[in-house]
Amino acid sequence: MKSTHFRKNLLEWHAANDRPLPWKGEKNPYYIWLSEIILQQTRVEQGLPYFERFKENYPRVKDLADAPEDEVMKMWEGLGYYSRARNLHATAKNIAYNLDGKFPDSYEEILKLKGVGPYTAAAIASFAYNLPNAVVDGNVYRVLSRTFGISTPIDSTDGKKEFAKLAQECLDVKQAGVYNQAIMDFGATHCTPKNPNCQSCLLSEKCVGFQESRVENLPVKSKKLVKRNRFFYYLVINAGEKVLVKKREAGDIWQGLYEFPIIETEQTVTNRNQIEGSETWHQFINESDYSVLRVSKAYKRVLTHQKISIQFWEIQVENFKNDYEKAGFIAISRAELVGLAFPRTIDLYLSDKSLSLELF
Ligand code: SF4
Repeated sequence: MKSTHFRKNLLEWHAANDRPLPWKGEKNPYYIWLSEIILQQTRVEQGLPYFERFKENYPRVKDLADAPEDEVMKMWEGLGYYSRARNLHATAKNIAYNLDGKFPDSYEEILKLKGVGPYTAAAIASFAYNLPNAVVDGNVYRVLSRTFGISTPIDSTDGKKEFAKLAQECLDVKQAGVYNQAIMDFGATHCTPKNPNCQSCLLSEKCVGFQESRVENLPVKSKKLVKRNRFFYYLVINAGEKVLVKKREAGDIWQGLYEFPIIETEQTVTNRNQIEGSETWHQFINESDYSVLRVSKAYKRVLTHQKISIQFWEIQVENFKNDYEKAGFIAISRAELVGLAFPRTIDLYLSDKSLSLELF
């Protein structure tokens, strides 16, 4: 496959299969940046309403910069990978107050923004300013490795260099934005990870992967990701009309989101004494009279590097006396909980009490 042949056919495919999305054809770098950050590790259908909401609530970068952090996190709630929301907010402040509200207009300057990597910088540079920077993401690795028959591992240093060079060679520098959109759409909807549409593909005649029956084996990855197992047990402590929550701190997942007092273990708990004998239990329940109202099922969350099992223990405590504030907790009513941003599983739990059951 020659890069000229690839480019021509890809653009032809795109002209006939353009996906109408609200950020397509957008030239405002702020909106492009918003859409790109929202769409990282998120499906288009899931990200769409978030993009619309952010655009409506924060029409200018300064509006986002001036929004309270809790409000931004709440708006992001459900999208996951919350470091994106924190970076989004920090970058909006940086642009609004250090860069005079002007979005950078070169690839190198865009790349300096917090939370913006080479892929996002190339997307913004090409879509907003038509700069000749090729995007390289999972879609691009897949499409190029298959069409050009490249089996260099995409997660190796050599592979990264080889694919970046090839992506740049294939780019249509006169219409970099259109080309980048085309290759991303092609990977997302046609040359998909599973069941790519090879039978009706403009590139199939020259596609090395297809011709050599290697499509299913491309792209190649050298490392297999080992996921860490974690077990979270949340104590939903009802003290009078209030429950205790705290904002998660830096250095772990879900930073800046709220949670209940937590007991984390490395294995699943099989005996209630493991919960009632834990340090967190003693810290909060202490000598108070209590009753365990219910124990939820174990909710499962799979993140890029972790598999998490999450269970909720709802506890009624009488005569609650505790210096929870020293440990950074606040006591709030259930009605106030809806105003806080929680990890998705906690939201799910709060909205679905029917799933509760006794396990021990
Ligand atoms: S022939 Fe198949 S593998 Fe090759 S580009 Fe088309 S869809 Fe992808």
